[in-house]
Amino acid sequence: MTAENAASPEYWDDIRAVARCLHAHSGPIVVLAHENPDGDALGSVLGLSRALRRLGKTVIAPMTVPRYLSFLPEPGELSAPLTEWPAGALAAVLDVDNNDPVRVAGADLRTFGGPVVNVDHHGTNQRRADAGVVDPSKPAATMMVADVIDALDIPWDEHLATPLMLGLSTDTGNFAFDSVSAEAFECAARLRRHGARLGWLNEQIRQNPPSYYLLLREVLGKLEFQHGGRVVQTRVDNEMLARAGANWDDVESYVSMLRNAEGAQLAVMAKDYGDRVKFSLRSRGPVSAQNVALALGGGGHVPAAGATFQGSYAEAREQLDRAIAAELSRVDALGGSHKG
Ligand code: 5GP
Ligand code: MN
Repeated sequence: MTAENAASPEYWDDIRAVARCLHAHSGPIVVLAHENPDGDALGSVLGLSRALRRLGKTVIAPMTVPRYLSFLPEPGELSAPLTEWPAGALAAVLDVDNNDPVRVAGADLRTFGGPVVNVDHHGTNQRRADAGVVDPSKPAATMMVADVIDALDIPWDEHLATPLMLGLSTDTGNFAFDSVSAEAFECAARLRRHGARLGWLNEQIRQNPPSYYLLLREVLGKLEFQHGGRVVQTRVDNEMLARAGANWDDVESYVSMLRNAEGAQLAVMAKDYGDRVKFSLRSRGPVSAQNVALALGGGGHVPAAGATFQGSYAEAREQLDRAIAAELSRVDALGGSHKG
């Protein structure tokens, strides 16, 4: 698989086509995002679902929300994973490469024969939807959902703006990354004007249970610095979770913390589930987490990507170390600085 990370030249045409497709559909609309949903996945699904319900659409939004985001959805808004597609459904797939059906959670896209609309910002997206807008220059998928809501001409209020702000805030590391264009601040200003509760969101998200810290102690115990500190990696397995009384949700934010290590160009968090290993990759400077993920059969953005390896941690680790060495060699051949 490859990545196309440039901005989409047809962005506004694509947004209008997506809006037309949603507006014209009279059957149920199933709104889906990626497995292990983050703030952008949840924010996109809630924002679009709320907007479509205002248009009188029947919306089904199957999503299992992690504990740290469970403050946002209201009762009845989200549902359990679908075992069967409703008759006449349209699938709206948000914040996920829809070419990668195993990444789409909530319903099995491989068994779906109806129309698919895709709104996404991953460069690794193969752009195969019936109506789709894929723009890797957008720092969050919720920013694109905001444009779809505008194109649908739905009046704004806090209920729509807050979930979209959640995605924009979390996918930009709280407006800290280079991905935060002037346009991203303009979108944030627009959402704020419509009442988005930014301070409240951050207050809710930043409360960690004691297990988060107990697990962090375990995770730091496995920390490794490689390649003279250019690579920092660690892992979590079920035994560590049990010792800390933690669950997999508690792991999510550790990788960004590792990426802050001075001199680190790549941070890796491995979640060892026993039969498979999920790698979360974050990079800085000239190193591309996306390249490492692609080499492992995964995908994502240049600075934040991931891959899942079927097999043991030892096997996965061998492949990972090889992919990392190849990416560092590529960067060194460019004559790039080791310091990032
Ligand atoms: P995370 O490490 O937070 O799970 O994911 C970082 C980014 O990489 C997210 O944008 C996510 O969608 C993407 N990503 C993570 N794992 C995979 C994977 O296995 N395949 C693909 N295509 N993308 C992934
Ligand atoms: Mn996203």
